[in-house]
Amino acid sequence: MKIRIDMTGLRYGRLVGVSFAHKSRSGHAHWLFLCDCGNEIVAAGGNVRSGSTASCGCLHREISAARLTEHGHRARKHHDATYRAWQRMKVEHDSSTVLPVWSDDYARFLADMGERPSDTVLTRADATKPFGPGNCCWLPVASRSVRATNGWMKRRDYLPVSSAGLRALTNQSKSVPRAAATIRSSMPR
Ligand SMILES: [Zn+2]
Repeated sequence: MKIRIDMTGLRYGRLVGVSFAHKSRSGHAHWLFLCDCGNEIVAAGGNVRSGSTASCGCLHREISAARLTEHGHRARKHHDATYRAWQRMKVEHDSSTVLPVWSDDYARFLADMGERPSDTVLTRADATKPFGPGNCCWLPVASRSVRATNGWMKRRDYLPVSSAGLRALTNQSKSVPRAAATIRSSMPR
């Protein structure tokens, strides 16, 4: 015979025990709980005490929504710009100029380069070598408003970067955006 634990008034997560509801066929006591959000649920007391049930379901919904929002944010703000840079690289250069590890695998490209910081373009440090890990960086360019005045991507929109600076950018390309922003702010204008 199982000993019933009185859960009335006890709080677990967002749930506070209200009253005994029923005993399941397998003998588990179910209780009525009031959730912080105002919903009531009946749940197995054991599941609530173990933490596997911590709310009426609202907690899980909030976590899922946060993940979706974060994903959507990333997709809109960064992911898209990086993806477009990857596509542009493949469209503008023939297959011999882009290493297969990148042309065949966007996830790999993203992992190597990080997300594209605003006002940068994908550039090779050594133009005689193909696009691939270790030879590319996000090169800072003139701001969007300057580009709009000049027309899209004139040569003079590329901010002056020495070959040493380009090399430094390339080495740090994985830790962009902060690295690029720092380098950009320290560059002559
Ligand atoms: Zn709730």
